[in-house]
Amino acid sequence: MMIVMKEGATEEQIRSVVQRVEGVGCSAHISQGEVLTVIGAIGDRDRVAALGLEGTPGVDHLVPILKPYKLASSQFRKGERTVIDVDGRKVGGDNFALIAGPCTVESREQTLEVARVVSENGASMLRGGAYKPRTSPYAFQGLGAEGLRFLQEAKEQTGLPVVTELMDVRDVADVIEVADVVQIGARNMQNYSLLSEVGRAGLPVLLKRGLSSTLEELLMAAEYVLKEGNEDVMLCERGIRTFETAYRFTLDLLAVPALRELSHLPVIVDPSHAAGRRDWVQPMSLAAAAAGADGIIVEVHNEPEEAICDGPQAVPTDSFAEYAEQLQRVAEVAGKVVSTV
Ligand code: PEP
Ligand code: MN
Repeated sequence: MMIVMKEGATEEQIRSVVQRVEGVGCSAHISQGEVLTVIGAIGDRDRVAALGLEGTPGVDHLVPILKPYKLASSQFRKGERTVIDVDGRKVGGDNFALIAGPCTVESREQTLEVARVVSENGASMLRGGAYKPRTSPYAFQGLGAEGLRFLQEAKEQTGLPVVTELMDVRDVADVIEVADVVQIGARNMQNYSLLSEVGRAGLPVLLKRGLSSTLEELLMAAEYVLKEGNEDVMLCERGIRTFETAYRFTLDLLAVPALRELSHLPVIVDPSHAAGRRDWVQPMSLAAAAAGADGIIVEVHNEPEEAICDGPQAVPTDSFAEYAEQLQRVAEVAGKVVSTV
């Protein structure tokens, strides 16, 4: 249930509503808009309704949120879009985030070189995995803590905020020391204890859609993070599994306008893992920007043919300037500006 407070409702009135909501075992999430304050009462709807909050001082009206996800729903923000600030780079609204970097942190040289090139060519943030979810347990699993140190160095050299994946709750402290945005990978989208933990960690989260998850399941996963009081969640479409085998995954670009209708959260597209081939990454990136995505997360490598992981889909550093320039042009047509500082 959404409790919309009157314009000018006092702190005292807001506090009193929160107390009553919590008093019936529900949680209250306050969303402070420019003019209005909205309190999201999450829990048993009948109990909130039984409070008879209509007519309570400061309360304007109540709106039931019909979707199973509440805090993630566009209703919760009354159509206002969430804008996430990552060290001055904005994601959402009129801002477009270009997140670029290697699939995997492989070495110090590779990480610093890719970071330098993307930073000199308009990237908003640096991506790179130190902990890698691999289909085969025999494949390279990432450099772990050492990889995090290389990312830290890349951040110090370029100033770019770092987006890196967290796979295991046991690594949360190490990862959040370096990460500016915590990536939850497609395979962990429904790891609910991990989602709650990153919710509590308080850093912005980039949440990837599961390989065969519906948009509703993705939004329910986001709800786990939001419910912990962490409002900064980016939803990421990265391709889903369909009957089509001609490419790695089917990039579901309709997810962009659909998610933007269902939710106030920014929507990022990962064209790399769907395409699986670098020559398809550019057209799908442009298509995503044209569809209204709030950003792109793309894999870039200085020596793609030598890459340990996902080389065929990596944009070579040599081509990144042109890639970024075209993407910026399409983002502008869609009414957005790539956010850098
Ligand atoms: C990645 O970003 O490198 C990755 C493993 O992505 P996903 O979880 O979408 O497969
Ligand atoms: Mn990858």
